Amino acid sequence: MVETSAGRAVVIGGSLSGLFTALLLRRRGWDVDIYERVDSELAGRGAGIVTHQPLWDALDQLGIAWRENLGVEIKTRRVFGLDGHLLIERDCPQIMTAWDRMYDLLRSNFPSDRYHRGKGLTRIEQNGGGVTAHFADGGRAQGDVLIGCDGLRSTVRGMVLPEVNPVYAGYVAWRGLVPEDAFPPALHEQLFMHLAFCLPQGEQMLGYPVAGPNNDLRPGHRRYNLVWYRPADERTALKRLLTGDNGVSYDISIPPPAVSRASIAEMRAAADRVLSPQFRECWALSEQPFLQPIYDVQSPRLAFGRVTILGDASYVARPHCGAGVTKAADDAMVLVDALASAASVEDALRRYEAARVPFGARVVAHARHLGSYLQAQLKTAEERERAERHFSPEAVVRETATLDFLAEAS
Ligand SMILES: Cc1cc2nc3c(=O)[nH]c(=O)nc-3n(C[C@H](O)[C@H](O)[C@H](O)COP(=O)(O)OP(=O)(O)OC[C@H]3O[C@@H](n4cnc5c(N)ncnc54)[C@H](O)[C@@H]3O)c2cc1C
Repeated sequence: MVETSAGRAVVIGGSLSGLFTALLLRRRGWDVDIYERVDSELAGRGAGIVTHQPLWDALDQLGIAWRENLGVEIKTRRVFGLDGHLLIERDCPQIMTAWDRMYDLLRSNFPSDRYHRGKGLTRIEQNGGGVTAHFADGGRAQGDVLIGCDGLRSTVRGMVLPEVNPVYAGYVAWRGLVPEDAFPPALHEQLFMHLAFCLPQGEQMLGYPVAGPNNDLRPGHRRYNLVWYRPADERTALKRLLTGDNGVSYDISIPPPAVSRASIAEMRAAADRVLSPQFRECWALSEQPFLQPIYDVQSPRLAFGRVTILGDASYVARPHCGAGVTKAADDAMVLVDALASAASVEDALRRYEAARVPFGARVVAHARHLGSYLQAQLKTAEERERAERHFSPEAVVRETATLDFLAEAS
């Protein structure tokens, strides 16, 4: 294969996908700038992140030492009945990290003078020789390739695939964190060092340990990450959940501080009614819960001349595989390999597309099946049968937050 000479890359979006892509490109000799719309340093999105092999591979490729301090290593998974009894315990070693930890690891390895904040992309122009990004502040940037790492609501995707929009899954994830030192000893013993679940009818509650503030991994200083999937009708309940105390209604997602006190009080009251005693106690101890509506995004194409999309901009799978960041890291490795070996940028993007379109479609479909029992509306008998298959405690413990399905025959 021919090594193409490295060129200039414009990366739109400076979160985890953008940083993985930009860092991997720099390792191959590309001249890379990141343009991030948010004006301040990014922080605290999404709380806990389950990690998988491709994410570790990407960190290894970047020469980032992670083995000592990526996150909290757990060994077991537990399912509790609604009355608090332990129903199942299974071995399943895994490293649980936090969004902030991943961001710090990547951001601290990327030069600050090449990371431009307050740069919202508004327009892209391509001609035979290159691509130009135009920003809301009137600035522009030119490159040989432009990579949209701009998330669920990607501006880049909106330009190249205007017909592809996030499709609401019919449920939301309530999220919260409990400081380890707030755990009473008995609760700590039952829950803290496990990926733990409880399964009210048509809902799923799970929790796992992550680093504490400032990536503190010392026992006693960590946090427990809570995720509670609950159905919410798009026209009624979701609308209410996306309206803040100030009366402002948000589209697609609501910033954590804007979630209304009434929604949080309603969620805490529901926790007292429907969850196992362990998780009831956790929600009572949690700091500032927030919520994320769950969406599917599936792009049928990824190569648009010298422009492509990656990470949540290209595919969003429901979080049941716990693989969004791992997929982004894997996308970035495939793209950068293609750019290093193809005869032209256009050819490289076509190769990336050929590899990642089927992969992304498979992950999105699998995660949709895992979450199907959380949807209030299942239309066909096949959908209902599949939902039942993924709802048992055994299935949830076996299938959640693993990529084992990728090794199975399609
Ligand atoms: C409940 C839940 C649990 C999850 N659990 C896990 C897990 O356990 N493991 C895991 O791997 N993943 C998990 N995920 C998914 C993971 O959080 C995402 O896949 C990942 O954070 C996406 O990163 P990204 O960089 O692609 O997008 P984002 O983090 O959304 O970043 C996009 C960036 O682009 C910027 N941007 C947007 N528009 C523009 C523009 N026009 N110009 C310039 N910049 C722009 C934004 O400001 C933002 O910084 C979970 C998600 C949810 C909802």
